[in-house]
Order: sequence, then C-alpha cells, then structure tokens
Amino acid sequence: MDARRLACLDAMGIPAWSRRTDRILAGAPCPVLAPAGSADAPDETGAMGWEALEARVSACTRCALHAGRTRTVFGVGHRNADWLIIGEAPGAEEDRRGEPFVGRAGKLLDAMLAALGYERNQVYIANVVKCRPPENRDPRPEEAASCAPYLDRQIELLAPRVILAVGRVAAQRLLGSDSPVGRLRGRVHRYGATDIPLVVTWHPAYLLRRPEAKADAWRDLVLAAGAAVAGGT
Ligand code: SF4
Repeated sequence: MDARRLACLDAMGIPAWSRRTDRILAGAPCPVLAPAGSADAPDETGAMGWEALEARVSACTRCALHAGRTRTVFGVGHRNADWLIIGEAPGAEEDRRGEPFVGRAGKLLDAMLAALGYERNQVYIANVVKCRPPENRDPRPEEAASCAPYLDRQIELLAPRVILAVGRVAAQRLLGSDSPVGRLRGRVHRYGATDIPLVVTWHPAYLLRRPEAKADAWRDLVLAAGAAVAGGT
C-alpha cells in the first residue's frame, strides 16, 4: 500500500491492514453467497442510452418527489467504471448541486475511495431515487419503485464489475430484502439475476455519527475490491 493510501486511511481513522488488503486486491477469491434474486419491471427506458436516459430523468414526474426538487440528481462519474456506488436519495446539498454524495458524507466517501486508489471520477455514483425527499426522509417504497427503471437502466449501461450498496435503503432496494445493514454487510451478494457482485456497507453519514464503524466499512470496501478483481467468481 502506497503512502497516499496510508495517509487517506489515517485521515479516516482506519488501521491499514496491508497484508490482507494486498492479498485481496491481488485477486484472491472472496466468499460468495447464493444470488438474491429480484425481478426488474420492463420499462420504456430499457432501450435508452445515457443521454436519453438523463434527459428523461430531468423531466420526470413519475412520482410525487418531482414537486419538491430543485434539480434531479442523475448520477456522476465514469460511464465505463468498474465500481458503481449506490446511495439512497439526494439531500439538500445534492438537490442544489445536482450531484450525489457531496458535503461531509461525500468527502468521507471520497476518502474511502482514495484509500482504495480511486478518484471520484473513476467510479460511478448514483442513488435509488433521483429527487430529494422532503425533510430528508427515506424514499417511500412507491417512490423507489417509480424510480427503479432509471437505476436499473444505469446498471445495465454501466455493467460494473462490482456494486457497493451504501446504507439501508440502497441495500434493501437492490437485494429485495428487509434485513438491516448489519446483517447484509460482510459478504458478497449478487445483483438480481445478474452475476454482478454486490457488497453492502454503512452509509458515510452513519460513519460520521459512529466513527467506530469505519473499520467495518473498510473491510467492506476491501471485500468489494476483491470481488471486482475476481470478476464475479
Ligand atoms: S424520484 Fe425518480 S421517479 Fe420520482 S420524480 Fe424523481 S426521477 Fe421521477
């Protein structure tokens, strides 16, 4: 592990377990669970490219969240990225800027990615819903369902080597589960009927409140890195 990554880990308050990290990042196999299937509803978005999809989202009124948004938050990053990071919904700052994971939680996510050797523009970051829920509440199931075809199409277009589901809302939506994050993290799932590895971790906002959980998050990132290198085996 180079000095820059060590510095990032140090800034996060996470001990650098370099032996395990290096071994996993070198491609050693990771534990893999049986697929947790989910059926994706067919939608007219299924044939869209990136530009058409983004334009569709920016004009979307499929659910009530459109009424309170300043901007839609489509997603950012490299459209050929190996890593797809999925959070729950835009907050106030994201709604203003039209970009996911900004502010303190976003900076922590950036530091976690930097510890793995990734800049923000080398991964792709999106949310389960593209419009800000009022009072920063969780998106409702019907809102997540309305927005699902957009995220599903983003996943199809991107075809990432690994998905990192950040926080409970993203994890439960992507895995079709009602289990808490604590039960879903620490292992490699599969996204729907695909072979894409999916790893669950704590939301950075939670890590800001519970810094002692950062070590868990680092283990999850290392697990995801191993799954990405292993190519879904
Ligand atoms: S949250 Fe999704 S489905 Fe709802 S209005 Fe926004 S883009 Fe459309």
